[in-house]
Amino acid sequence: MGNNSQTKTKECPSCAIEIGSKSKTCPVCQYEFGASRIGLKLTALLLILFFLYLIFF
Ligand SMILES: [Zn+2]
Repeated sequence: MGNNSQTKTKECPSCAIEIGSKSKTCPVCQYEFGASRIGLKLTALLLILFFLYLIFF
């Protein structure tokens, strides 16, 4: 009954700010929740390797 302290929040692992648990992206650092972080990192790593390949060959 009007207990606002019970609103669900989650902490952004990137900038440690508390945002609504329903938010899919952090409004501060644009961190994306729910996305497979490992997959994103692997994709980024592959892209970097690909560009390095293009540069050196
Ligand atoms: Zn953030």
